[in-house]
Amino acid sequence: MENYRRVILCKYGEVALKGANRPQFEQTMMKDLRRRAKRVGDFEIYAAQSTVYIEPCGEGDDIDEMYREAEHVFGFSGLCVAAVAEKDIGDIRRVAAGYIPASVDGARTFKVEAKRADKRFPMKSPEIAASVGEAILDAAPALTVDLHSPDVVVTVEVRERGAYIHAGQERGAGGLPAGTNGRALLLLSGGIDSPVAGYMMMKRGVTVDAVHFESIPYTSEQARDKVLALASILTDWSGEIRVHVISVTHIQEVLRDTCDNDYFTILLRRFMMALADRTARHTGAQALITGESLGQVASQTMHALSATDIVTSLPVFRPCIGMDKEEIITVSRKIGAFDTSILPYEDCCTVFTPPHPKTRPELSKVEEQEAKVDFAALADEAWATRRLYYIRSGEPPREYAAN
Ligand code: ATP
Ligand code: MG
Repeated sequence: MENYRRVILCKYGEVALKGANRPQFEQTMMKDLRRRAKRVGDFEIYAAQSTVYIEPCGEGDDIDEMYREAEHVFGFSGLCVAAVAEKDIGDIRRVAAGYIPASVDGARTFKVEAKRADKRFPMKSPEIAASVGEAILDAAPALTVDLHSPDVVVTVEVRERGAYIHAGQERGAGGLPAGTNGRALLLLSGGIDSPVAGYMMMKRGVTVDAVHFESIPYTSEQARDKVLALASILTDWSGEIRVHVISVTHIQEVLRDTCDNDYFTILLRRFMMALADRTARHTGAQALITGESLGQVASQTMHALSATDIVTSLPVFRPCIGMDKEEIITVSRKIGAFDTSILPYEDCCTVFTPPHPKTRPELSKVEEQEAKVDFAALADEAWATRRLYYIRSGEPPREYAAN
C-alpha cells in the first residue's frame, strides 16, 4: 500500500466560462457526482478553483470505480487521479518519487511543470519543478528529462489544501451539466443513430425522455427489450430515463391497405411525429430529437424531412444530421451502444417498407394520400396503447401505468 492519498481532480470545461450561472452549474455537477459516489463508497466531494475534488474517505473506497463514474459526468473537460502531498517540498518529492514512476508506464521522457496557486509556499514554480524532477530521476533511472517534447508532463499543483501531483489528465465527458438545458423527447428506434442523437443532446445538458413506436406482432418483444436496453445505456450518462412505447400496428395496416405504397414510409413518419409531439406536450418536453442524417435513406432527404416536420410546431433537433455513418458509429461505440444497436430485430420502419419510397415527396401528394385515412382517429387509437417504462441507472426497467 502506497503511503500517500489519491484524489480525483475534475476540471471544468465550458462551465468555467459561465458568468452568473456558474454556481448553479457547479451545484448540478457536484450533485451528479454525489449521486454516483453513493453507489461506489464514501467520498468527500468539494469544489475550489475551477476544480472538483473527489477524496475517498476510507481505505476500501474504490477510486478507480469512482473515476469511471466521473467520466460520465457532463461539464468536466479533464480528469486525473493525483497523489496528495503535504505542502512541504520534502513530502512533495517523496510522493512524486513514489507515484510518478508507477503511473507513467511505458514513458521514457518527462518534464515537470509546477503551479503555485498558494503564493505563501516558499519556493517559486521553477524551483519546485527542478526539485521534483530530480526526485523522480533518482527514483526511476530509466526516465530522462526532455523539456521540449516529453512523453509525459508531470504536474505539481500547490493549492489551498495540499500539493497535488499527477502525470497529465484525460478527457472528461465535456458538454454542459445534466439537466441544465431543458427537456426534450427522443424518438428512439432500435438502430444505431437515435441513441447517439439522444446522447449528444444529453451532453448539451438536456433532460431526455424517449418514445418508441412498435408494431407487434410484426415486431417482436425482443425488439422492445432491445430499445429498453439502449435506453438503459443512456442512463449511464443521465441517471434515469422514461420510455413511452406506442403501438403503430393498426396505423401501418391501414396505410398499407389504403394508400399508395410509395408514400407508406413518409405517412408513417408523419404519424410518428404527430404522436411524438403529443407525448412531448404530455410530459412537458420542449423539443423533439431524432437520429436522422441528411440523405442517409429515402426518408431523410430535405423534402422528406420537411414533410415530417410540418406536423409538429416543436423544434426538431437532429444532432446527427451532418455526420456520416462512420462518425455516428464511432460515437455509438464510445457510449457502449453499438453492440446492442446491431442486434438483429426488426424495427417497425422496416415492416412493409415499399421497394421504391419517394425521395422527393411533394407535400400536396402526401396530404392527398393522408386524406384517405382518418388521421386523428388513428392517432387517438395509437395514443391509447401508450405504455410507460422508467429506468434508473443500474436497475431493470419498471413499467408504470401511463396516465
Ligand atoms: P436509427 O439508427 O436511429 O434507427 P435509421 O438510420 O434507421 O435511424 P430511420 O429508420 O429512417 O433511420 O429513422 C430515422 C429516425 O426516426 C430515427 O433515428 C429515430 O429518431 C426515428 N425512428 C425511426 N423508427 C422509430 C421507432 N420505431 N420508434 C421511435 N423512433 C423511430
Ligand atoms: Mg432505424
